[in-house]
Amino acid sequence: MEIARCAALLPQTSVAERHRIVCRNVSVKRNTEAGNYGIAGNVLKELERLAPPQFKEDVRKKISMCEEKEFQNADKELEEIMKRDNGIVKFCWKTLEWIEESHLECPYCNALFNESDTVDEDDKCSYCLCGELVKKNSIQ
Ligand SMILES: [Zn+2]
Repeated sequence: MEIARCAALLPQTSVAERHRIVCRNVSVKRNTEAGNYGIAGNVLKELERLAPPQFKEDVRKKISMCEEKEFQNADKELEEIMKRDNGIVKFCWKTLEWIEESHLECPYCNALFNESDTVDEDDKCSYCLCGELVKKNSIQ
């Protein structure tokens, strides 16, 4: 379940397009295994658009499989969180926990962090090493 949750977040990371395809494939595999057919289905629809022609048939087959399961998700909590913000889950890039209302954002790469003992305002972003973290008080 935890692996599926982490995998559900993967497609949202800022990486090169060819890596995004890999992230999406991992997300589909883990979420299918965890019985999250709605989440896998959404990722598959993006993959259908991005995948090279020789993989499109396989992607369509997997979409049909999710359709047979009526795009149901076993992880209802994750489903709720994904619905809340159009499928974009805000999560802490350090702990992979859901982002809290009061959090820190990197103005350079838009990485998000929950405040903690080790992450504070004005710290250098540990993801891009360029931005200085700014405090935000809203999830939107
Ligand atoms: Zn950054």
